[in-house]
Amino acid sequence: MSEPSSAAAKAQAEAFPDGTTEYKPLRKANYALDKVHISDTPMTLSNWHKHVDWLNTTFIIFIPMIGFISAYWIPLQFYTAIFSVIYYFNTGLGITAGYHRLWAHTSYKATTPLKIYLAAVGAGAVEGSIRWWSKEHRAHHRYTDTVKDPYSVRKGLLYSHIGWMVFKQNPKRKGRTDITDLNEDPIVVWQHRNYLKSVISMALVFPTLVCGLGWGDWLGGFIYGGILRICFVQQATFCVNSLAHWLGDQPFDDRNSPRDHVITALVTLGEGYHNFHHEFPSDFRNAIEWWQYDPTKWMICLWKYTGLAYDLKQFRANEIEKGRVQQMQKKLDQKRSTLDWGTPLEQLPVISWDDFVDDAKNKGKALIAIAGVIHDVGDFIKDHPGGKALITSAIGKDATAIFNGGVYNHSNAAHNLLSTMRVGVLRGGCEVEIWKRAQFENKDVTYTNDSSGQRIVRAGAQVTKLVQPGASADAA
Ligand SMILES: [Zn+2]
Ligand SMILES: [Zn+2]
Repeated sequence: MSEPSSAAAKAQAEAFPDGTTEYKPLRKANYALDKVHISDTPMTLSNWHKHVDWLNTTFIIFIPMIGFISAYWIPLQFYTAIFSVIYYFNTGLGITAGYHRLWAHTSYKATTPLKIYLAAVGAGAVEGSIRWWSKEHRAHHRYTDTVKDPYSVRKGLLYSHIGWMVFKQNPKRKGRTDITDLNEDPIVVWQHRNYLKSVISMALVFPTLVCGLGWGDWLGGFIYGGILRICFVQQATFCVNSLAHWLGDQPFDDRNSPRDHVITALVTLGEGYHNFHHEFPSDFRNAIEWWQYDPTKWMICLWKYTGLAYDLKQFRANEIEKGRVQQMQKKLDQKRSTLDWGTPLEQLPVISWDDFVDDAKNKGKALIAIAGVIHDVGDFIKDHPGGKALITSAIGKDATAIFNGGVYNHSNAAHNLLSTMRVGVLRGGCEVEIWKRAQFENKDVTYTNDSSGQRIVRAGAQVTKLVQPGASADAA
C-alpha cells in the first residue's frame, strides 16, 4: 500500500488546506489511532469475529431477521400495510432528499421545519447520523473507486452494498472530507449527539404508536411499520452504493464505475441516474428528463412551490450536453478503431508510374490508380456491382475521373471499400495533385485525428474522393 504520507504530500496539504480533519464522533472518542487496526490484519478463523462490526450487523442483519421470523405469527393488517408503505417512502426520502441531496451535497436549501422533518424521518431509516452518513458519502464522491472510497464497488458488489458496514474499516484509511458546514448546522449536530434516541423513537416507537393508537395493531406496527420497513428502506438505499455502480450505462463519463439505470431509480426513489449524479453532484436532480423516475426531485420541487425549499442548484443544459457529447465521441473513437480503414497512405510503398503500368500489364496484377493511390482489385473484380468489364478495363490506368463520376459517381461505401484495397502511392502522384488542390479548396477534406491519434475519415473525405470546386453545389 502506498500511503501518500511523503513530505511532498505534506507540503501540498499545507499549501492548499482542504478543510478536512480527522473524523471524530461527537458522542465519544474511542479511537486508538496509533494501534494497528483490526482491518489491517488478515481475517482468520480465530479473529473473524473481531473484524465484524457487531452493532452495524445487528441493525442491518439480525433485527430484520427477527422481523421476518416474527411476521410468520403476526398477520399483516390492511391499515398497517398502507401506513408501512407511506412511512417507507417518508423515511426513504429522509435519506435521498435529506441526508443525500440536502446535507451531503447541499444541492438546495431547506427551511428549519423541512430540515427537522428530514432529520427525523432520516433517523427512521436507521442508516447512521446525517453527520456520519454525509462524511462517508463525500469521501465516496471525492475518492470514487479508490482505496479511500468507503464503499468502493471495486471491492465487490456485496462489499459496496453491506460489506463495508458489516466489517470494520480503519477510519484512517478512509478519505478525509470537509464537514465544517455540517458541524455548524445545529439540527445535524443535535441528531448526531442524540442519534440512538432519534433512531429508537422514529424507527420503532413512532410506527408502533401510529398503528397501536390508530387501529389497535401494536405488534403489527412494530414488526411491519418498524422492523421490516427499516429493512426494506435500508436495502433499497444501499443499492445506490452497489447497483448504481454496477448496472446500466455511462452516458457522461465511463472512467469510473457510476451508472444510470431505471431499475436502480425505481428501487432508490430516483437515485438511479448515478452516472449523471457523479458528474453533477450538486444538481438537485438525478434524472434530468421529465419522463425519468425521480420522486425525490419531484418532492424537492413540491417543497420549493410550498416555500419549504429554496436555492435549488441546477447545472446548465449546455454543460450537461458537453459531457454527453464527449462521452459519445469517445465511444465513436473506440468503435472506429475496431474498423479497417485501409493502410495509412504514409505506410504504403511509393511506386513509379512505369512500374505500376508494368505490374498491371505484364505481371498480371489487377492494379488501378485512383487519385494517386494504387489499389489491388484482384479479389474484387467478380463482386464489382458495375460488372467485370468496366473494372477490368481500368486496370493499369488512372481511373480517378471515371470512378468519380466519369462513368459512375461511386458511393461513399465504395470509397470506403476501395481504401481497404490500397497497396501503394504513385510517385509524383498525377491525380494526387488534383486531390491536394481539392483538399486545399475544400476545408472538409482536411485530416483530423481522434484523441488516440487515429485518423478520422469522414464520409466524402476519403482520399479517393475527388472534390472539385463547385462540385459540392450539385450535392446540395
Ligand atoms: Zn456513487
Ligand atoms: Zn451523491
